[in-house]
Amino acid sequence: MIGLISAQAKSMQNLFKTYCIIGDPIDHSLSPALHNAAFKSVGLNCAYIAFRVPKCELEVSLGSLRATNISGFNVTIPHKVGIIPYIDELDPSAKKANAVNTVHCIEGTFKGYNTDVQGFIEPLHKRRVSFNGMKILLIGSGGAARAIIAALSNEKGISHIIIANRTKKKADEIITMASNLGLSANFTRMEYLGEHALKSDLIINSTPSGMNDEQSIVDYEQISKDSIVYDIVYSPMVTNLIAQAKNAKATVIYGYEMLLAQGSKAFEIWTGITAPVEAMKKALFGPFGEPL
Ligand code: NAP
Repeated sequence: MIGLISAQAKSMQNLFKTYCIIGDPIDHSLSPALHNAAFKSVGLNCAYIAFRVPKCELEVSLGSLRATNISGFNVTIPHKVGIIPYIDELDPSAKKANAVNTVHCIEGTFKGYNTDVQGFIEPLHKRRVSFNGMKILLIGSGGAARAIIAALSNEKGISHIIIANRTKKKADEIITMASNLGLSANFTRMEYLGEHALKSDLIINSTPSGMNDEQSIVDYEQISKDSIVYDIVYSPMVTNLIAQAKNAKATVIYGYEMLLAQGSKAFEIWTGITAPVEAMKKALFGPFGEPL
């Protein structure tokens, strides 16, 4: 789809452009390192910074981004759904997920995308996972969960999805979304996670639990060795859930894999250039490479 140097990329080569990520908390974000390395690697005169934007300051912060002529930005916890009323145009990926994680600003117009949809599914496709008859446990019902449901709805043969969340009302919204997209889903309380985990082929953590080295909400005794455990939290790289899954000898998928895939897609939307994935990986892992 995108040649190494497209016309769009050529035209932006000498222009200084600014990109950013907005969210709260934001100090954990690896997106500035990832995108600045990518811009440098392809010789673009661009900078990417992180802004802490609390929920109550979203509207005023978006006004400031418009006023400064920002070229594009990523959106993270807790704004992926709340930002929708402020977006001028939604790409089909964002419409399907009803959540936005990437905004491309073109002549003052905000176009919203959801690159988490593709970013989430890529590591599963890379492992050639078969979804046929698959039973899934999805923990969390926020913006990322919406992208995950949108991505899973593109796969054939999924048997059932159990959705666990602290707040039932938010889980119910995701269940309605899943059923509108042709998936069978129902709710469980967090206290019953363990018994569902043991019966699940794919266990996904889409909550921020794990970011502060908390004890995992699923224990290794509740994970089958035949399961896949996918923790979308990427900092720390090895969360307690990933450690529990390794202890259970299950297959693990790290949050950084999704981070790289969604970040590459965002880079391509903004620049029209194929993402320099190796440079982005080097920014994440240093000279020692990927820890797989
Ligand atoms: P969000 O919209 O704020 O949703 C957070 C969800 O997690 C809600 O369902 C919330 O439950 C639940 N939750 C929050 N704290 C919890 C806790 N301590 N224990 C149990 N459940 C908790 O956030 P999001 O945008 O979906 O992001 C969620 C996480 O995914 C973040 O850590 C983010 O960094 C990560 N993420 C990673 C990638 C990647 O590329 N790897 C991409 C997207 C997101 P309630 O409904 O009860 O409040």
